[in-house]
Amino acid sequence: MLGPVLLTASRSARTRAAVEGFAPTRKVVDRFVAGETTAEGVATSRELAAAGLAITVDHLGEDVTDLAGAQAVRDAYLELITGLAPLALEAEGGRSGAAEVSVKLSALGQALPLDGHDIALRHARDITEAAAVAGVWVNVDMEDHTTIDSTLAITHELRETHPWVATVLQANLHRTEDDVEAMAKAGARVRLVKGAYKEPATVAFQDKADVDAAYRRHVATLMASDATPMVATHDPAMIELAVATAVAARREPSSWELQMLYGIRTDLQREHAAAGRTVRVYIPYGTDWYGYFMRRLAERPANVAFFLKALATS
Ligand code: FAD
Repeated sequence: MLGPVLLTASRSARTRAAVEGFAPTRKVVDRFVAGETTAEGVATSRELAAAGLAITVDHLGEDVTDLAGAQAVRDAYLELITGLAPLALEAEGGRSGAAEVSVKLSALGQALPLDGHDIALRHARDITEAAAVAGVWVNVDMEDHTTIDSTLAITHELRETHPWVATVLQANLHRTEDDVEAMAKAGARVRLVKGAYKEPATVAFQDKADVDAAYRRHVATLMASDATPMVATHDPAMIELAVATAVAARREPSSWELQMLYGIRTDLQREHAAAGRTVRVYIPYGTDWYGYFMRRLAERPANVAFFLKALATS
């Protein structure tokens, strides 16, 4: 019950003001967010890379409503890429894609009236071109279902010149069955997630068991294809399935990834990296942490309990 309420709150300006204005919140946010500045995001990336983990870094922000805001996000990514460039170069054996950035198109102007799609494409292209020069990869994050056609079209355009540009497919959505098939055929890098947004029954499974069953099917399809599956989950059952399926498909460790979020199941992240698997950690940083933070609370009652305990003891 609590999850949907928190997901609704993640879009509420009034709740946002209350949560952001509450000083003790910061302590809890720090568990999931690697600081506010680019320097802090890069420093955390360095620490994790030194521990043998690949990284994907998100300059937090979404739902930008004016062109100046979208340009500012684009510029923040250009600064981030400059900060990550040495890390990409130093990566063990010049491992391509050891450093990646994750971008949300709604932060790059996708929702602006009239030409939001084109504005977001232009900004995403600027970021991709700078990333290519720096040896950094790009992932286009997936947001709610109304944005998917535009996000897939933009990813498709970027992949024509930079085939390592990846995107995300969400197992909770009915349409994903077809999208997985298309991405598998295209041999794309695909991050597979369960889906973090509150979606209506017309487009999405409402039962967790249905989402999990779809996730299993998509892991199997992607592993059997020429795609690079990036299995992004903290669910031990899904991780086990991915490992077993990759072994059965005789996949090289560099041909697929496990991905987890910063601050969540750090033990699992290190355990799988030590076993020789590619584990990429999603590192968010920045001041605009509200939507991201509320989605993490919604996913897991234990996160809410952690939040309440921290508030009670502060
Ligand atoms: P759930 O189904 O939520 O939980 C299953 C089990 O996993 C739990 O029983 C528990 O054992 C374990 N688990 C889950 N969460 C935790 C936790 N916090 N601490 C300890 N154990 C836990 N969603 C999008 O919609 N778009 C995106 O672009 C996107 N990018 C993502 C990138 C990465 C790297 C990751 C890991 C997730 C991303 N997500 C994205 C979020 C995703 O859709 C899920 O909401 C989120 O991962 C929770 O689902 P789950 O598969 O981890 O496990």
